[in-house]
Amino acid sequence: MKLTQKQAPHGCTSADRHKLSRRSFLKGGALMLGASTLTIGAPQLIGCSTEPNENGPAPLNEVGASAVEATATESALPDGYQVVNADVLIIGGGNLGVNIALSALSEGREVTMLDKGVWRHSGVSGMSWDYFAGRYFTPAISYLGIENGKALTNALSFTKERDRYVYQVNHGQTLPDRDEKGQYLPFINENRTQGQFCRRHMDNLRTANGFGVDEQFMVTSLLIQDGKCLGAMGIHLPTGAFRVYRANATAIATGGCCWFYGWMTVGSYSINNPDNTADAEMAAFRQGLAIANSEFACYDLMSINPPGLACAFGGGIGADAQEYQFVFDNAGERLFSDDDENVSDRNYFNQFLAKAIAIDGRGTESNGVFLNVGDHGLRYGNARNVDLLERFGVGVRTDQIQIAPEMFEHGGSPIVDENMMTEVEGLFCGRNFPGGADVAGNYYYGLYTGHKIAEYAASQESKADGPSVNWEDVNVERARLEAIRTHRADDGVRPLQVRQMIQEAGFTGMGVYRTTELMEKSLAELRRIREDELPRMTVADSSLVFNTEWKHAIENYNLLDLAEMSVQASLNREETRGSYMRAEFPEKDNVNWNCVQVCRLQDDQMVFEKVSFEPLDASVLEQ
Ligand SMILES: Cc1cc2nc3c(=O)[nH]c(=O)nc-3n(C[C@H](O)[C@H](O)[C@H](O)COP(=O)(O)OP(=O)(O)OC[C@H]3O[C@@H](n4cnc5c(N)ncnc54)[C@H](O)[C@@H]3O)c2cc1C
Repeated sequence: MKLTQKQAPHGCTSADRHKLSRRSFLKGGALMLGASTLTIGAPQLIGCSTEPNENGPAPLNEVGASAVEATATESALPDGYQVVNADVLIIGGGNLGVNIALSALSEGREVTMLDKGVWRHSGVSGMSWDYFAGRYFTPAISYLGIENGKALTNALSFTKERDRYVYQVNHGQTLPDRDEKGQYLPFINENRTQGQFCRRHMDNLRTANGFGVDEQFMVTSLLIQDGKCLGAMGIHLPTGAFRVYRANATAIATGGCCWFYGWMTVGSYSINNPDNTADAEMAAFRQGLAIANSEFACYDLMSINPPGLACAFGGGIGADAQEYQFVFDNAGERLFSDDDENVSDRNYFNQFLAKAIAIDGRGTESNGVFLNVGDHGLRYGNARNVDLLERFGVGVRTDQIQIAPEMFEHGGSPIVDENMMTEVEGLFCGRNFPGGADVAGNYYYGLYTGHKIAEYAASQESKADGPSVNWEDVNVERARLEAIRTHRADDGVRPLQVRQMIQEAGFTGMGVYRTTELMEKSLAELRRIREDELPRMTVADSSLVFNTEWKHAIENYNLLDLAEMSVQASLNREETRGSYMRAEFPEKDNVNWNCVQVCRLQDDQMVFEKVSFEPLDASVLEQ
């Protein structure tokens, strides 16, 4: 591991972009498989007819995506898979992807969306909730002080051009807050509004002209050639069909990945979405792109006892900084005081919790605290769930409920410039958050990213049949996936077993309380898994149709890379900032660490760099 320091006031430069080459892709891919001792034989697939072709992939939506055969003029023309041309390609159909799509469509682009799950029910946006919570107009908008201020300023300026209130009400905000006379409370004056924001936007999109979704499609790699992104590729999960999407412009919107941490106190899962396994992000990493903010995550208190309540607060109960008054220690004392003016700050809240539990001895035996709702109500869905659980005989208001901090959002996405473009030309990413996204952030970054991607796609339009592609890279990826599916080891270990090992190690190193010892232990275990377990990982099911073991095995490579990167980045950051406490360095260190940390693959090593950004132009908030 190397750590260097670099100044980049606006994020990456175009010079950086051109440094990324196809070579780094091949190298990254080789590292991944080298580590697992699987071998790849790219050219052997050229010309052979594969099962996906026989089964035939599911038909694509007619609007926005046109299925075409690659022309004979392309080099090393492969067969056995389908090539699809798109204008704007969005990977991930959650809240962020939807906002990018709406914005790009409104500027006359055609949008093809790829989603790993069943769209509208997938992702964190699909599974968890429908609230619109804002850090729009609060000083906390740049709460760690280390976001790309120029990108944020641009995004806010762009979004402010719209009439926000009308936009919210007409385009999704079905249940805005009302005052006692029944009048709508304008969003602009409210920090928080409740409504079917995401779902309504998805409904709008579904019927929009120029929009198409290919769902249950898992992107496994990006098509990056000569420093430019030409699209993405991956597997249609129901059939196993391999497809390549060529696009004028591509955006990553695949959500935060908490699945590498995934050890929710009583079970091996986290409250983020199990499909968010950083596939696109780690594909970018393997191809030489810098991944930012992997040390940061978001945590909330999730219930652990009675065990039946152990589920996300969207479906169970939980508490965060806004329910601080219901949180009690092991002596029955309230943990947070009403006089504490910082308590509603989520980072402060989590740091305080970490200290109370791990240092001050005020936690429960399970490293949690107690939630006592009493006769009060929790907010939103949590309040609804209290009623629901009581109907099932669970005494939420009378029993002591143990709750412990669990990860629900995570950073770890490609670094972007002020136009939301990554280091690779034509590849955008709407996430620019240290510690994970929220819905308001996805709204303003999403709309702005859609605007910038539309602008870029327009500049690329001249090539009617999509960009020209060197198919060799496609065959390398195809061979990698095939090798994972067909590899057998005598002492084989199932992909889910490997996943649990990654999750336990991730949990050890990436909690709200991080010590050098815990992180070193976590890293040692992750490296052992890479060396000992990945080579043994065997997909017992060899079919192509809905092969979930194959999917898990592919994902494990990404989870392992992200876990190792995240723990190492946390170890490097010798201060306390964000939603966790670093035991040996309990204070914020703005002299040395008021910067973004990025990780990239160089000479088969994870290399870390510090990147400083211009701060947010706060005058944008006052206009
Ligand atoms: C329990 C919980 C409560 C929350 N509460 C709040 C709150 O009160 N207020 C707030 O503002 N925020 C809250 N958040 C955060 C907020 O919900 C998320 O930040 C936001 O919904 C994430 O949207 P997204 O589009 O970035 O990710 P997602 O909604 O997760 O979308 C990512 C999409 O990418 C797809 N995908 C993943 N990998 C691939 C691949 N390889 N190929 C193709 N597609 C892929 C997934 O299927 C998914 O549909 C909460 C989050 C959780 C988990």
